[in-house]
Amino acid sequence: MNNKPLILVVEDDAAVRSLMAVTLDTQGYRYHLARNGAEALIEASTQQPAVMLLDLGLPDMEGVDIIRKVRDWTVMPIIVISARSEDADKVEALDAGADDYLTKPFSVDELLARLRVALRRVNAETSAGGESAVYENGGLRIDYAAGCAYIADQEIHLTPIEYRLLCLLARNTGKVLTHNYILKEIWGSYTASDVGSLRVFMATLRKKLQTGGEQPYIQTHIGIGYRMLRQDGKPEDAP
Ligand code: CA
Repeated sequence: MNNKPLILVVEDDAAVRSLMAVTLDTQGYRYHLARNGAEALIEASTQQPAVMLLDLGLPDMEGVDIIRKVRDWTVMPIIVISARSEDADKVEALDAGADDYLTKPFSVDELLARLRVALRRVNAETSAGGESAVYENGGLRIDYAAGCAYIADQEIHLTPIEYRLLCLLARNTGKVLTHNYILKEIWGSYTASDVGSLRVFMATLRKKLQTGGEQPYIQTHIGIGYRMLRQDGKPEDAP
């Protein structure tokens, strides 16, 4: 049983905490529960969980501050689960280093799907063993040395900005990247109106990637940002 991923659940609401515990248990995950920020930080540093599921509103600390603290020393995926439905709260959590977010009330199936995406990111990073020269995801291949991208072995013609956007998303596969983060990485600086041009670049990039009947590579999070999804993970892979 020891090879089952360990999930850290940080939640002060006892009912939600036990729902998550039961859900994780039935799926064969191991889990630890933390009821507040202090417990969360201890668990995160001593147990080295594979993924953290984090409530934002905690009695002793803001969830965002937990993200900032643990990001100093770990890249473990963090999925925020919060009743706060404002885009600004999600963006703040993502910019602090969260990977993904789920709004309460959430469906158990959705929680498990997000968890699988996060675990796949961990596995992909572990098996890649650092920066690899070639990125592969379903029919998409990026040859970093050559600066070329291919779909089903056909080169796709990208502008320099589209190529940089693609590489940024690929490097962060499974993670939601906010508009602000992308604009900062690609253009250095930005203003609010740049989100409009980012949308245009993304639209043309997506069109160039979706040549066949595959699932979308780039997922849009309206008002938040974008995420590269992994295609070659088995959809029903058990934890
Ligand atoms: Ca709470």
